Amino acid sequence: MDQIQIGKFIAACRREKGMTQAQLAEKMGVSDRAVSKWETGKNMPDSSIMLDLCSELGISVNDLLNGRRIAMDNYKEIAEKTMLEMQQVKEQNDRMLLHTEILMCSLSVALLLVLNIFAKYAEMPDWVRVLLVIVSFLQLIPCICFSIKIEQKAGYYMCKNCGEQWVPDYTQVLFSPHIGWNRKMTCPHCGKRCYHKKVLTKDE
Ligand SMILES: [Zn+2]
Repeated sequence: MDQIQIGKFIAACRREKGMTQAQLAEKMGVSDRAVSKWETGKNMPDSSIMLDLCSELGISVNDLLNGRRIAMDNYKEIAEKTMLEMQQVKEQNDRMLLHTEILMCSLSVALLLVLNIFAKYAEMPDWVRVLLVIVSFLQLIPCICFSIKIEQKAGYYMCKNCGEQWVPDYTQVLFSPHIGWNRKMTCPHCGKRCYHKKVLTKDE
């Protein structure tokens, strides 16, 4: 945000409306100095009066924050750009989640192996041995539940038959046979039960 530009824009709009700084200040219930500070870019109008100020100046908040009037076709462009940026952030987050899943599962499987090797070779009473083996498997359960939650939420599954991209619910993911991130599920679009590939980006 360019505060100087915003200030100049406020001043220009005020003059277009034929108001002095004092008149605008009175309408907004602020001091002349406050208006002067906005217009020189030293201060931004408080968010609590921004809407009133914009309606007084005959502009939108979006115009004010950009320091210029935004044409209607630009509006669409700017909105699309914002959407795209949000989409990119989501993809980055999803990618990070999937990496977390790999790390978590690797650690969990490593722990399983270590506990079992320990239980097999170390000196200990039999009941401790049995307990260790049980614990080694139990610790997999939260890992699996959490992983499946991540997998369901991050990105989409793409039907290999028709290319439909969709997000299945938790139980569908939980009970579907899988090879890595490829899962066999029934596609809601073509109705075929086939393998679905994990994808992060949704093609429109
Ligand atoms: Zn399909």
